[in-house]
Amino acid sequence: MGSIDVDRIKQNVDLVDLAGQVVKLRKVAAGEYAGPCPKCGGTDRLHVKADWWFCRQCWPPDNGKGHDAIAWVMWLDGVDFREACRRLDSGAVPTDRPRRAPEPSARRYKWGDPAWQAEARTFVHEAVQRLASPTLGEPGRAYLAGRGITQETWQAWGLGYATPRHPRLRAERPAICLPWQGRGTLKAVQYRFYGDGIEHGDRFAQRPGGERTLYGVDLLGTHCDTLVLVEGELNALSIWQEARDRLDVVSFGSDSNAGGDLAHRLAARYRRVLVWADDPDKARLAMGAIPGARGLRSVEQDGQKLDANALLQAGALADFLLAARARAERPTAGEALGLLQDTARPLTDRLGAVRDWLRDREVRGELGPDYDNVLTRWLGMLGEYEREVRI
Ligand SMILES: [Zn+2]
Repeated sequence: MGSIDVDRIKQNVDLVDLAGQVVKLRKVAAGEYAGPCPKCGGTDRLHVKADWWFCRQCWPPDNGKGHDAIAWVMWLDGVDFREACRRLDSGAVPTDRPRRAPEPSARRYKWGDPAWQAEARTFVHEAVQRLASPTLGEPGRAYLAGRGITQETWQAWGLGYATPRHPRLRAERPAICLPWQGRGTLKAVQYRFYGDGIEHGDRFAQRPGGERTLYGVDLLGTHCDTLVLVEGELNALSIWQEARDRLDVVSFGSDSNAGGDLAHRLAARYRRVLVWADDPDKARLAMGAIPGARGLRSVEQDGQKLDANALLQAGALADFLLAARARAERPTAGEALGLLQDTARPLTDRLGAVRDWLRDREVRGELGPDYDNVLTRWLGMLGEYEREVRI
């Protein structure tokens, strides 16, 4: 064995996981766990965080600092420094012992459980207060301001700021906390991580035990005209901020989840539903759940996709939404055919109602063969009309 990369070894180990393999730990503070000491017992002598530990009796903190993972293996297994590093590095650290979940209290319960509710509500409440705190909340507020989200918006949506454990980095990282509620009940807590070391693919995580259906249902207005169903929580906030007086918005989140049955029931209350998702699979899933929904895509500019939040930052979101809603006012192919066949209406009305729609060049691309169907019918009607006029 050559030189030992102590920093890398320590970074790859989470002491909460490591100690959780040998003793049962419970959460005592943000990121801090306690349990019986594997050597001297008790109930809470052992204290563990992701990167330090101590036993009040066997090995208290040195000058206020806990001990590291290498010290843990040396102490527990009675081996020297080099061997402790080798065990940690090779993953050979106690695999014969039953493995425990690193966050037992949070993982055991689902959102419907009173214990989950109590813990999650406390967490969210603290996160909300932290975001509002002039000192502690400053980084979170700066992040939101950078995304163009106003204080009024983040307060209305109950956002918070915390440093939950990042599942891949296995360490605490700053995150915006987004509570998912339905009829006042907390159902999930989504984290939006940001900052150093957070890659595009691992910006999001959620508190274990939650269930996400639709984000924002408790903030719906009474605009039974247009509903926007958008991918991504921050996009929903952006749309709400910019156009809540003219339309309603909910989100099916950032992972694949189209809202399912709830989306279907909700959409039935609206005259128009716009589904804004750039991932074709997510769009298909959401559109499939909502008959008559229309797709909406982010604007592409210089190879960059401008989603709702990017458009908000560019000052162009309100116009984009209003244009999309206006386009959605056009009848669908089925509705246009229905109009033409509605013999209770005067023929001139029927022709006029469909004429403008047929002139819209975008319709052609969107509807394909249905377009030709309506066009053929319309031309037939027009011929009929001209004969009538001639007589
Ligand atoms: Zn001890």
